[in-house]
Parts: sequence; C-alpha cells; structure tokens
Amino acid sequence: MKGLKNKNALITGGSSGIGQAIAIRLAQEGCNIAINYRSSPEGAEDTEEMAMQKACGDIENCGVKSLLIQGDVSQEEDIIRMVNTVVEKFGSLDILINNAGIQIECPSHEIPTADFDRVIGVNLRGAYLCARESIKHFLSQNSRGIIINISSVHEIIPRPMYVSYSISKGGMENLTKTLALEYANRGIRVNAIAPGATITPINQDWIDDPQKKAVVESHIPMGRAGTSEEMAAAVAFLASDEAAYITGQTLFIDGGLTLYADFREAWS
Ligand code: NAD
Repeated sequence: MKGLKNKNALITGGSSGIGQAIAIRLAQEGCNIAINYRSSPEGAEDTEEMAMQKACGDIENCGVKSLLIQGDVSQEEDIIRMVNTVVEKFGSLDILINNAGIQIECPSHEIPTADFDRVIGVNLRGAYLCARESIKHFLSQNSRGIIINISSVHEIIPRPMYVSYSISKGGMENLTKTLALEYANRGIRVNAIAPGATITPINQDWIDDPQKKAVVESHIPMGRAGTSEEMAAAVAFLASDEAAYITGQTLFIDGGLTLYADFREAWS
C-alpha cells in the first residue's frame, strides 16, 4: 500500500493474535517492524520469523528490518525505553500500533481494585503513554506520524462482567478523537479499528467450545468470527497514504455485529 515502504512501526503486544498479524502485514508492505512483547520472547520471535519470511522470502537483507523489544505497557519507564530503542535502532518512529490489551471477567460489584487498575493500566493508560511518547518524537522530528489504536466493538457495546474492559475501550474512542483533533494540523493522524469477535488467544475459551462458538457467531450477521489478518488489512490501509485524509475515526470490522442482528427480522 502507498507510503508504507521503509516506514518504522512499533507494535505493542506483537507476540500473538491481532498484533502478530499486524506486524506481519506491515513487514509485507515494506515497513521495518519493532515487535513489543511483555515477558517471554518466544511468541515475538515467531512473529519476527513469519514477518521476515513474508517480507523477504529467501532473499537475505531484503531491506526490511525487525527488532524485538521487551516492555510492559503499564510501566511508564518501559514505554519511554521502548520508543527510545526504536528511534536509536531504526533512526526514527513513524507508526505506533497500540494493540496490547487484556480483559478480566468479574461481576462489576466484586472486581478487586488491583484488577480494575490493571486492565485500565494496560488498555487505556498504556495506549495513552505510548501515544504521548510517540507524539513527542514525531514533533521533535517535525515528522508526520501515525497512531492506530486497537479498540473493540465494546467501545460502544456495553459488556457486563467486563466493565473495566468496556470502559478502557470506550475511553480509547475519546483518546483517538482528542489526539486526532489536537495534532491534526501538525501532520499526525490518529485512528482506531474496532474488531468484533476475532479468532485469537484472548478468546480461547469460546474458540475451543463448539457450543459457545455457535452462540458467539449467532450474534454476527455475517455468521462467523473475524480473523487477525482481516484486522491487519484495515490497519495497513489506515497507516498508508491511501488514508491520508482520515483522522479521528474508528473503523468497525465486525461482520455487521454493531448493526444489531436482533433487528434482522421485523418485530411486528
Ligand atoms: P491476544 O491475547 O493474542 O493479544 C494481546 C497481546 O497483548 C498479547 O501479545 C499480550 O502479551 C499483550 N500484552 C498484554 N499485556 C501487556 C502489557 N502489559 N505490555 C505489553 N503487552 C501486553 O489477543 P488479541 O485478540 O490479539 O488482542 C489484541 C487487541 O485486540 C487487544 O487490545 C484486544 O482488546 C483487541 N480486540 C480483540 C478482539 C478479539 O475478539 N480477539 C476483539 C476486539 C478487540
């Protein structure tokens, strides 16, 4: 896609699922990729191997570079170190993908404060701090920068038993819009995607259970869950120059989930 070749991208939570697919797709488009992982590097190493295979095939040194960076996005000092490392190793940072995310299931009146803080700390505060450090860099270089937040359909659909997750994604919608407005005249674009149910490790409990999977899919007008590659394709578009006039938007990629499937049949 136009404008992605030789751009430097940092993908948080790049060891699995949607983050892994985004890293692979951006490398395929010619971006240098910095793959963040929280604790163990194995998943990120797999991402790197698949990304380089897709980007370069059997050609050695095809021009696409990759980097693994350990860091917990709930820790400010880790985020500062991560952004500095990308700039040091790649020369600059052009694209931030705020993908790292967690969810904890619990009735809302029983959530331990530490669990609530953990979800907000990773999904929302972490995304903000990564954006803040990236924007500082974009402005210092007088360069056009791109931020893409990986939100969720729960940005707008309430999700009982997951209030911290819902709040974090609801906050992400405003984070996207506020940063987009604040920095639009300085060449920085900020957008989000809102995946619906997607086949990734975060959903292992229903993916492995045919009955639960059928219930999930019954709410999706297109009748199936999405794939990480379908999410990554939209991210590549939003990061590319094809989307040069788009900012402050959330693109819902959900097989029609947010069209209210229950209204498909007339009620009267
Ligand atoms: P996943 O569990 O495979 O990916 C989440 C990634 O975030 C993992 O690699 C994990 O190691 C990383 N991570 C967690 N805490 C971190 C931290 N403190 N620091 C750095 N990395 C951390 O699940 P996924 O479905 O690929 O999720 C990716 C994003 O997509 C999340 O933000 C999630 O909310 C969002 N999303 C997923 C779905 C879905 O159905 N799978 C739907 C909507 C939104």
